[in-house]
Amino acid sequence: MGKTLSCKDVGVDCDVVIKGKDEADVMQQAAAHAKGCHSGVQMTPEVQAKIRSLIKDEGGSSCCGGSSCS
Ligand SMILES: [Zn+2]
Repeated sequence: MGKTLSCKDVGVDCDVVIKGKDEADVMQQAAAHAKGCHSGVQMTPEVQAKIRSLIKDEGGSSCCGGSSCS
């Protein structure tokens, strides 16, 4: 399952949803997106930790995301 990150969850007014194959992929894309679109956002360790905590499983709802869940 892939991973997604809603940019607005990070605290910026932006509707971009980043999708990646795994957390590292999403982090990489988020860094590139922030650099290009959010010049005011610095990718500090704190921001990276926040982003990491906001990454969700693709297609996941509020469910735990386990393979046996529907
Ligand atoms: Zn954005």
